[in-house]
Amino acid sequence: MRKIVIGGGASGLMAAYFAAKSGHDVILLEKNEKFGKKLYITGKGRCNLTNDCPPGEFLEHVVRGAKFLHGAIFRFPPAETMKFFEEHGLSLKVERGNRVFPASDKASDVTKTLERACREAGAELRCGCEVTKIDIQDGVARGVFLQREHIPADRVIVATGGLTYPSTGSTGDGYRFAREAGLRVEPQTPALVGLETQDDLSAAQGITLKNVVLTAKFGGKTLFSHLGEVLFTHYGVSGPLILTLSSVASKLSPEEMTVALDLKPALDEKKLSSRLVSDLSQRCNEQMKSVLRGALPAGLVLLVLKRAEIPPEKRANAVTREERERLVRTIKNFPVRGRVWRGFSEAVITVGGVSLFELDPRTMESKRVRGLCFCGETVDADALTGGFNLQIAFSTGYLAGIAD
Ligand SMILES: Cc1cc2nc3c(=O)[nH]c(=O)nc-3n(C[C@H](O)[C@H](O)[C@H](O)COP(=O)(O)OP(=O)(O)OC[C@H]3O[C@@H](n4cnc5c(N)ncnc54)[C@H](O)[C@@H]3O)c2cc1C
Repeated sequence: MRKIVIGGGASGLMAAYFAAKSGHDVILLEKNEKFGKKLYITGKGRCNLTNDCPPGEFLEHVVRGAKFLHGAIFRFPPAETMKFFEEHGLSLKVERGNRVFPASDKASDVTKTLERACREAGAELRCGCEVTKIDIQDGVARGVFLQREHIPADRVIVATGGLTYPSTGSTGDGYRFAREAGLRVEPQTPALVGLETQDDLSAAQGITLKNVVLTAKFGGKTLFSHLGEVLFTHYGVSGPLILTLSSVASKLSPEEMTVALDLKPALDEKKLSSRLVSDLSQRCNEQMKSVLRGALPAGLVLLVLKRAEIPPEKRANAVTREERERLVRTIKNFPVRGRVWRGFSEAVITVGGVSLFELDPRTMESKRVRGLCFCGETVDADALTGGFNLQIAFSTGYLAGIAD
């Protein structure tokens, strides 16, 4: 049986390896001049290739599609990914939060290992080959069209990725192929991405707050409330908590949400208030912008004072009780009024894609078009940061690769 894999990224290379290992005649077609261009930039160039946790725990980090992915993750769990890379000569290390990286800290080693494994298994890898159309006749995938060539096949595996960082080659071709084949494709939105704010927070640009609680509400209900890290940027906010929020709330307009930071979660309002009373009385002749510098990073002090409507130059001994209470409320509930999520060019993943109702979760094959499979980011399933998205690409690639 001949299998064609479209896309030489994480899921395509894994699919090609297992298809070749299963004895099939495999051709992988990649449109770029080299394989795994997106893999090179993952994990800030170090590639957090999976998360060393059991499948059940893994699925808790899946935001959309956990039920669908159950079989894929149990059949090809993180332990199998680690075994695959180690058996093919790539030493790994496990860091904070069970994140797995190549011991060399080089994402390029992950791609090289996948490429080598594919070649050793007998897959034919071709780059500079852009698939323009899938040949479907009478509800069966028969091959693919390139610019000037038709390659016949018994099975076509679409592993063309999502829409993020389009310069890496992920330009959403798989969604088009799916629509042309008559499959339902869920709308795509960027996720694991920063938030542009309505207010100018650039005075705090570059500041990372390590232990803050971010609470997001929608329609009066709490969507998300977690302790973690937030980074202030030139456009607004980013960092782990914001990325997670962008995934959980990817389909909501930030303008419709109420997002606030508790900048001092270890102190309740009463304790914070008495601490301020004591700071203000001890430093009664100092300006407020200097008094607060002990409690908050300098760049944030002016933003907090502005929000609390206290002039930064005001002497501590002139601050009224009302102003102090406003300050406490601002520190415990600093508003982050979102405007819009940053775009696909900066997002880590694409939410949406080929509807899970269209696919058989055991084989990743379309229920409508025989012999047509989808894997990786083309599929409407995604997870949080920590190596989970690449593992989804590997597990779904594995299933598509071994399916007969
Ligand atoms: C900056 C960044 C950092 C990330 N870091 C991590 C991380 O550390 N850990 C993690 O788990 N996830 C990470 N991710 C997410 C992860 O990279 C993706 O989830 C994963 O790469 C998806 O794999 P894929 O095989 O589906 O798609 P891709 O890796 O995008 O591969 C798709 C391939 O298909 C090719 N292609 C597209 N169309 C065609 C066509 N018509 N013909 C031929 N070839 C085609 C593309 O050129 C591309 O090479 C990161 C993402 C980004 C953007």
